[in-house]
Amino acid sequence: MRVALDVPLAGLFDYRAPAGARVGQRLIVSFGRREMVGIVIETPATPAVAVEQVKDVVQMLDDLPPFPDDWLKLAAFAADYYQRPLGEVMLPALPGPLRKPAAYQGLRAAGGPVARLDAKAARAAKPKRTRRKKSPAESEEQALTSEENGSVPENPEPTLPAPPISLPTLNASQQEAVDALSGLSGFKPVLLHGVTGSGKTEVYLRVAERVLREGRQVMLLVPEINLTPQLEQVFRRRLEAIAGPGGVAVLHSGLADGERLEAWLRAVRGQARVLLGTRLSLFTPLPDLGLIVVDEEHDPSYKQQEGLRYSARDLAIWRARDRGVPVILGSATPSLETWHHAQSGRYLLLSLPQRALAAEPPRIRLLDTRNVKLQQGLAPPLLEAVAQRLEKGEQSLIFLNRRGYAPVLHCDACGWVSGCPRCSAYMVLHRQPPRMPGGPGRHELRCHHCGWQQRVPMACPDCGNQDLQPMGRGTQRLEEHLGELFPGARIARIDADSTRRKGSAQELFARMHAGDIDILVGTQMVAKGHDFQNLGFVGVLNADAMLFSHDFRAPERLFAQLMQVAGRAGRAGTPAEVYIQTGYPEQPLYQALVRHDYAGFARYALRERESAGLPPFAYQALLTAEARELAQAQAFLAQARAWTDGTDSSQAADMSRITLYDPVPLRVVRVANVERAQLLVESDSRPALQGFLRAWGGVLPGLAATARVRWHLEVDPLEI
Ligand code: ADP
Ligand code: ZN
Ligand code: ZN
Repeated sequence: MRVALDVPLAGLFDYRAPAGARVGQRLIVSFGRREMVGIVIETPATPAVAVEQVKDVVQMLDDLPPFPDDWLKLAAFAADYYQRPLGEVMLPALPGPLRKPAAYQGLRAAGGPVARLDAKAARAAKPKRTRRKKSPAESEEQALTSEENGSVPENPEPTLPAPPISLPTLNASQQEAVDALSGLSGFKPVLLHGVTGSGKTEVYLRVAERVLREGRQVMLLVPEINLTPQLEQVFRRRLEAIAGPGGVAVLHSGLADGERLEAWLRAVRGQARVLLGTRLSLFTPLPDLGLIVVDEEHDPSYKQQEGLRYSARDLAIWRARDRGVPVILGSATPSLETWHHAQSGRYLLLSLPQRALAAEPPRIRLLDTRNVKLQQGLAPPLLEAVAQRLEKGEQSLIFLNRRGYAPVLHCDACGWVSGCPRCSAYMVLHRQPPRMPGGPGRHELRCHHCGWQQRVPMACPDCGNQDLQPMGRGTQRLEEHLGELFPGARIARIDADSTRRKGSAQELFARMHAGDIDILVGTQMVAKGHDFQNLGFVGVLNADAMLFSHDFRAPERLFAQLMQVAGRAGRAGTPAEVYIQTGYPEQPLYQALVRHDYAGFARYALRERESAGLPPFAYQALLTAEARELAQAQAFLAQARAWTDGTDSSQAADMSRITLYDPVPLRVVRVANVERAQLLVESDSRPALQGFLRAWGGVLPGLAATARVRWHLEVDPLEI
């Protein structure tokens, strides 16, 4: 039989099939000197390798039924589309314990992780039944405990009475959207385009409730869950009213192995009727799938950036087609790919043009920084706005997407800058929290690319000048300035540094919600998902940095990000203002933003993409090579490119529709002493590109082995 293993080699591996081995079944085999968990893919009558060379299986695993056909098909599609070995797609998609041989071996294995989990659940359920005659108070306590333990209810049917929940009456556009979605049968991609706060969540909930009542499962993908516990609460409360307690399973990368396995199992067994999760949930087998929702479909976090570089949004659409169910893509600022499909009629477009609660959308104003004197990087009108909100007892948010104290340390005397010794990048100046409360904060230099840290030099390493200056500003420095400018205000900062400790992000967000913060400084971490009821003002700094980026998708991301931060303000109905500091107020992107005109921005941006022959009007793949020396990486890419000139390639693919660009170094060419270059492949036809990649993917491993480089191929890359 042929088995998929999580090893970086193309193809499947032959083992002797024991009687009764089934396709989709897991097993333990020895591979080289290791034992590994694999999945049976084929059981042909005669093995491809001579019988005496075929090894026996170590152990067949039957703690789970074989994976269903549609799951195997999804994995096979992803492997082919993204050019990865099947085993490297399938096995990493499983909860950790299911792919570790050690979990099944030794005295304490007790039948493996699934059996252990089931036994634990059975033990937790037992005392309840034997002690039925206890006082009501006691049994209530028990019920609570078992729910907290997350034990699996034996009967997943909706039997328990749910707490009363107040449902908002849908407004006209929400009702229209719900009606349209309820009328769908079979596969249909739908774009739900609604400004932030327009009540998209309410639409998902209504449609999900319907699907649940029909006895089918719902998969709800969100960019992230950790930062927005309210979101999980809302979905749980509303949908468990129908799906029953334990009927909503939540999956994300922050879960411990056991928790993840438990949630996954409930979904796979159909006990959970709703699967709410981040991109990794996409690969969960769901027996009764009836609807997929991808919230904030434009969010870059749907794209995995290592291993299998897949887009969970794109695979969700494939999966919906395969299962014949609708898929809802929701966003205030859809990706241009999705918007293009909605305009051309391939996707159904439903719109929620108004905010559900606030009467007025926030007023967006551009602050031209060319002719004003900035105070520590802040324009006077922005400071006045913060002062006014402080006086009114309202909160302000200052958005700066750059963490640290200052992006670089600089010597005015000789021009020295704080470069990283291991990367072609600057070291960022960071302020460490003081050891003692009120003590002096220490500064240090940190590389954001490789993590290298070092103390701030006492004097310039090149000329000895003792007066080294921070250049530019990050969130820490901004926080410090604001403290000097508004001494009475309560100021806090939310970024990757201030939220490193587990639970600290939740704490800070809770303080903001409780009104214990007057001015919040934040990076993109604050842009997502939070309704700040008392937020009256948003100031945006340094947006221009993304306007002229080398990456053609940067404007699209900037527009989405700015709309999203703006959407945090005035959610509860107070008229809110958003000020954006820019040196380019006449830019069409900013002009569209002031009008809250996503469609206008998209029209303009799509025109530019079309004339430049960029996605969604072209399809791309990116081959990246890494080596000690850039020349090695470049040479490999040049060879990979040269292969396409030969007859082998023209026999394998329609080369007339394929464009290969010159290999170029990455913008940050060296990271942690590894130098990187890339080669872009483009085509106006997806099938042509796929055909080419299939053939090319066959020769790349050989070329890379002789060139001694590491490489990866990314299909539909998000960043170039
Ligand atoms: P979105 O997901 O589009 O950003 P939400 O679904 O979070 O918007 O809705 C924003 C707020 O409006 C929420 O507090 C929600 O409870 C409320 N809301 C949604 N629909 C209605 C409605 N029809 N009537 C009143 N409030 C609503
Ligand atoms: Zn110097
Ligand atoms: Zn570095």
